[in-house]
Amino acid sequence: MIRLYVDAPLTAGAEIGATEGQAHYLGGVMRRAIGDTVHLFNGTGGEWVCRIAALARGKGSFAVETLVRPQSDEPGPWLVFAVLKRDTTDLVVQKATELGVSALLPVFTERTNAGRVNLDRLRTIATEAAEQSERLTVPAIRPARQLHDVLADWPSDRALYVALERADAQPLGPADGPSGLLIGPEGGFGPRDHTVLDRCRFVRPVTLGPRILRAETAAIAGLALLQAPRCG
Ligand code: SAM
Repeated sequence: MIRLYVDAPLTAGAEIGATEGQAHYLGGVMRRAIGDTVHLFNGTGGEWVCRIAALARGKGSFAVETLVRPQSDEPGPWLVFAVLKRDTTDLVVQKATELGVSALLPVFTERTNAGRVNLDRLRTIATEAAEQSERLTVPAIRPARQLHDVLADWPSDRALYVALERADAQPLGPADGPSGLLIGPEGGFGPRDHTVLDRCRFVRPVTLGPRILRAETAAIAGLALLQAPRCG
């Protein structure tokens, strides 16, 4: 079943326009036609069976029919990650979305090498990953900021697990309440990063084991551990 995210209210009987990309994907890539069904979700109104009402030359529309999944909360952790090279940042956004994050916060740290972040591109990647992984929401992607600015605005009731390699820290395990995970850049955190992190009461240093993981591996492994069901 094809699932697509739409930025429009979903109610029985409504007709919703397809984006050019969706129309191309449905007609040109997936060879769907008028009358075929797709599932649509919008992040707040659940998932609906819809019929393709029009489809031609990069244009299309959907007729909304039946609710198949009511909306439910997806209160996943936040991922704060040092901006990486473009392809690696793309990978982190895709995998973090599959792993259920509710927000992605790219940050610049002392040793961040990469420059700008294309938010539109990252939002497209997150949307496609949410469609594929059967989520009902697309995570928020915040504009990239300096790490110390993100920490200054951090909600005090949300624990921030900071992944530190070569550290004598607690192993990361399932979080009890609202949480975030912070992953550093290829070169690790610098002394100025450590100084601001040490001042924050919500920070919890954690290890992901004895090996030095690439930042993207650390993000994926950390998110899995943070949300792992408790055994036994
Ligand atoms: N250049 C650093 C070094 O050689 O020590 C390694 C940095 S690592 C490639 C990038 C980020 O992944 C780190 O800042 C940390 O957040 C995370 N990371 C990698 N391995 C980790 C581990 N074993 N435990 C916790 N965090 C880890």
